[in-house]
Order: sequence, then C-alpha cells, then structure tokens
Amino acid sequence: MARIDNTIFSFSCQQFRSEEINIFDERRTVRFTSNQTAGDIVCPFCYGSVMGHGQKTVKLKDVPLVPGEPVVFEVRLHRYMCRKCRRTFLENNPLRAPNLNLTRRCVLWIYIMLRMKVSTSVIAEFLGLSWNTVRKVEQIRMEDILTIHEQQRLKNDYRPFYLAVDEFAIRKGHRYATSVMDLVTGDVLWVGKGRSIKDFEAFFDAFANTDYLLQVKAVAMDMNASYYSLVKKHLPNASIVYDRYHVQAQFGRDVLGQVRLDEAREHQRKAKELSKQIPEKSKEFDPDLKQKISHEKHLYNKVKKARWIVLMNKDNLSSAKEEALNEILEAHTNLAICYSMKEEMIRLFELRDSAEAKKGWEKWFDAAIHSPVPSLAKFGRQKLKRLDGLVAHASHPINTGKLEGFNNKIKVAKRNAYGYRNLSYFFAYIKYLSIPRKIT
Ligand SMILES: [Zn+2]
Repeated sequence: MARIDNTIFSFSCQQFRSEEINIFDERRTVRFTSNQTAGDIVCPFCYGSVMGHGQKTVKLKDVPLVPGEPVVFEVRLHRYMCRKCRRTFLENNPLRAPNLNLTRRCVLWIYIMLRMKVSTSVIAEFLGLSWNTVRKVEQIRMEDILTIHEQQRLKNDYRPFYLAVDEFAIRKGHRYATSVMDLVTGDVLWVGKGRSIKDFEAFFDAFANTDYLLQVKAVAMDMNASYYSLVKKHLPNASIVYDRYHVQAQFGRDVLGQVRLDEAREHQRKAKELSKQIPEKSKEFDPDLKQKISHEKHLYNKVKKARWIVLMNKDNLSSAKEEALNEILEAHTNLAICYSMKEEMIRLFELRDSAEAKKGWEKWFDAAIHSPVPSLAKFGRQKLKRLDGLVAHASHPINTGKLEGFNNKIKVAKRNAYGYRNLSYFFAYIKYLSIPRKIT
C-alpha cells in the first residue's frame, strides 16, 4: 500500500490551501480553505475596507480519479462585510465554473469531449455527473460560441440580404417552430416557438431598434405561410418571393394529381357501365364488349400508376417512360392541358427578366382561370393574389430549399434530444448547427 505523506500539489490558483485530501476512500474529497484575508480585498460595491463575516462551504465536482466517480472539492470561502456600506459578500471562487457546481477544469474536460463528439450520456457516465448537468454545460458552450459568432458578425458590419423563413414541427402533429435563415451564409438567425403571425412577430422584436434588417432585399417563403403581412409591415422595401418548389409541389398535388385521378376514375366508371351490358348468366358475350371493358380497365391502371411520370421533369424520364407519358397525354385532354401548364410554370420560374415574368405569369393565370378543368381554374383563382411573389422570383431567384435541407438536420437533432423538453437548448442547438464548422 502506497502512502502519501507531506505531498504538495501545486495548483495554478494560489488562493487556497488543501487541508485534507481524502481520495482513497469512497467519498474522494479534497478540502480547501482560503489563504485570503480581509486585508487583501476591498468592497466590490463602494471600495471600502472589509472585515470577516463568517464562512461558507461550497461543494464542486471535479474530474474523477476513477472513471465514474468524481472527486468533490469542498471549498471553504470567507464571507465579508463592508465596514462602510455594511453590505456582505462572498469571497470569489476561481475554482468554480460560472453558474455550475463544477470546477473549471471539469467543464474544460467536458468541452474537450464534446469537441471529440463524445455523446452526452457517455460523458455523464465517465465523469460521474448527471445527464442534465452535462446538457447544461453543452448549452452554455453552444450559447458562448453563438455569442462569439454574433459578435464577429456585428464587428464585420454584417447585414443579411436574402432571408428564408419556414416552419417545422417540433413534435409530429402539434407544436411548431419557425426559423429564419440567411440564405447567403446559411446561418439560422432566429428560431422561435409557434408558427402564427404573433409568434413570428418575435423575430422582428428581436432586431427592433437596430439597423440589422435594413438591407434585406428579399424573403423566400412558402406561399401558404402567414408571414406575408408581417414581412410587408416590417420590411416594406423587401420583396417577398414564393418558394418555387412549394408552388410546384402544390400544383402537382392539387391540380395534376386531382385531374389524373379524375381521369382514372372515368375509365373505371366506363368499365363498370360496359359490364352492365353483359346479359345475365351468359358465359359467352360479345368479344367486342369484352375487349372494350378490358381496355378501360387497362387505361384505369395505367393512368392511376402514372403519378411519377406526370410529376417528374420531362428531361429525367427514360425514353420508354416518355413514350408512356405521351400516350397518356394524347388520350386525356384535361391532363394534357394541366401538364402543359406545369411545363409553362417551370419555364416562368427560369425567367430572370421581371417584365417578361410579369407578362408570362399574367398569361398563365388567365389561361388557368378560364380553363375547362375545374381544379386548374380553382388553383388559378386562389393563387392570383400571389402574383407579385411569383414574379419577384425573376429579380431574386431565391427559395427556401437551403432552410428545408437544414430542417432535415433538425430532425436528426430532434432524435438526439429525444425526450428533451428544454426548448431553449433545442433552439440553441439549431442555431449552433447552422454556423460554419470552423469556429465551433
Ligand atoms: Zn461597501
């Protein structure tokens, strides 16, 4: 058995001396008392001289000597009272990490392990700390990094030009959050609870009384979002640009999808009607009729299954699929009309000349509203009021794709934070994930 007698451990901090080291039994504590005296310091409030006013013992967890069993520092600190203003205060404790019952050294270890991508639960187990404590350190670290990042941005006179705003589900079906991204840098500038107009107002409140948003030229958003009026109110000089992929997806679902199903059902109805013409109990019936029925059923299946070839970009279709598409379109007028409207929509989104785009979209809406296809006419009537935001894409060809791609990262973050109800941690994590890797 090794005995350590009269051994001196030298700490970089000379404010304390250890009066008892008890690291071999189960409790593993090191007791410290302060070398400081009342004569060494002055009152932090009025700079008056102070006198001793009792003591206080603070327990701090330090790094373990044995994995999973932290050494506890019991630090006895002086309490002082000012002779002049009579206020009392506790001796400062440079061993302690701010706002945590951990030593600075322990927090440094956690930081290093986090940088090495060690998981929260492994760090907690190795250092013998609770999971919540490690999470708290993680949040403090992320917020520190975000503050530094923010200060750097301010120092560089950073002002965002292009923003994207989008909502995402925190938990499936309920609880949403809204996030705002700088499309140029990829930084998530703001995350807030909810997705209503009132919830989004908090974004503008966060930057009120600053000129931070003064240079925003355009904001990309989903056509159905409720942010429109707020952006108009707070950023009157910025254009609103509707995300082309949302628009195209909605057209694919509400118009192309609807018309395709209508056409398919029409074949089903015809097949049924023809079947009714079969005389009862007759085994052999008109082969012509038989063929017609099977043809209608065949067309029903063909149109029903054509979802992707109708939605996909024509350039990405194999020649066999393109042939199948052309066959379907030739036989179904309504679907053909909507398909050509889709193609025209894609072309309009490629335009970069504002006047040309305006003319093109006006023609597109006119054709849609006056078309014989009810779902196309409805889409036209409903979206006509969005014309400005569609035309604006020509001058500012931005979209919310980058933010949505980022939302996929958030989904992974949600899995990591499984069961975690602390939204401030979650939102800090989202912003942290968005900042460039090199400074984390
Ligand atoms: Zn004082």
